[in-house]
Amino acid sequence: MPNRMDREFFRYQNEYEKKTLEVLRSGWYILGNEVKEFEKEFAEYIGSRYCVGLASGLDALWIAFRILGIGAGDEVIVQGNTYIASVMGITINGATPVFVEPDEFYNIDASKIEEKITDKTKAILVVHLYGQASNMESIKKIADKYDLKIVEDCAQSHGAAFAGRKTGIWGDIGCFSFYPSKNLGAYGDAGAIVTDNEKLAEDIRIFRNYGSEKRYYNKVVGTNSRLDEIQAGLLRVKLGHIAEINREREQIAKRYLNEINNPEIVLPEIRDKADSVWHQFVIRCKNREGLIAYLDKNGIGTIIHYPIPPHLSEAYEYLKVSRDTLPITEQYANEVLSIPMYAGMTKEEQDYIIEKINSYKG
Ligand SMILES: *Cc1c(COP(=O)(O)O)cnc(C)c1O
Repeated sequence: MPNRMDREFFRYQNEYEKKTLEVLRSGWYILGNEVKEFEKEFAEYIGSRYCVGLASGLDALWIAFRILGIGAGDEVIVQGNTYIASVMGITINGATPVFVEPDEFYNIDASKIEEKITDKTKAILVVHLYGQASNMESIKKIADKYDLKIVEDCAQSHGAAFAGRKTGIWGDIGCFSFYPSKNLGAYGDAGAIVTDNEKLAEDIRIFRNYGSEKRYYNKVVGTNSRLDEIQAGLLRVKLGHIAEINREREQIAKRYLNEINNPEIVLPEIRDKADSVWHQFVIRCKNREGLIAYLDKNGIGTIIHYPIPPHLSEAYEYLKVSRDTLPITEQYANEVLSIPMYAGMTKEEQDYIIEKINSYKG
């Protein structure tokens, strides 16, 4: 594993342990005060009016499309180079993903969206991949022009902003995952949606709990996607430190950007007006296999995010998107590599990683 998630835990260990015991001793474990307070605090952090806690990031995505009424016969535009959960959020509802190539910042290329819009297009799913905010001004203009919904997949972008506004509040619904490795990670599965729309928030709040507003009175056929009290409590602890966590990631990213100077490696770039919370630090290398083996031999773990783009995965063979239709997406899948990036990495570890990467010869 390239990233040491226990470092963050140990830094705030006392707070986490205290909160866990507090919840265990409270006698209330699902949808209680911790969830309510977390929803309030997270909405405030993002700058949205509402937040609804859910069981995972994937649930946030599919429930968002379900509540927006997007399903069979509808098309949703999404970038080709995303984590497969983004696409499953669309297809679980029976809707069809329409893939668009990414730009040089690994987000959807806004200039290639319009050519993919048909009379079946209902929404654009914007993924702020690797922690960098997408080009929201251009995307919003297109969505307004064609009357499309915007759903944001913010699973990797907690706190990232475009033009000073955080990701999650640019569209109709922002979807978050709090999977342990995310910037705001829980200690189990967890997720949430944020929105400014009271009706959507209310519908999702009911949907997540078997469609019931009042116990045993079910308005709609819903699901069980509840955030539990322990995770919500632990997330409240971490939210109190998220600024520090993101700042530390940024410091590491700055060092990598300034000090990695191996000509065989392409470093990430930052979009004008956007910022990144550096969920991943993704480099590109033509001879990736050689680099992985060399770093591994030197004790440096890396991961590929992601080796197989969704349209080429076995799961989506039925979409019949053939190889070579998304050449940039496929090139990225062949070249990207995430190097260690986490809060709590020591200066010596950073020095070592930089030195090893610079001394690699493909
Ligand atoms: C992690 C992730 C998800 C899914 O979140 P889970 O909580 O694992 O369900 C969705 N989209 C992206 C881009 C992710 O990175």
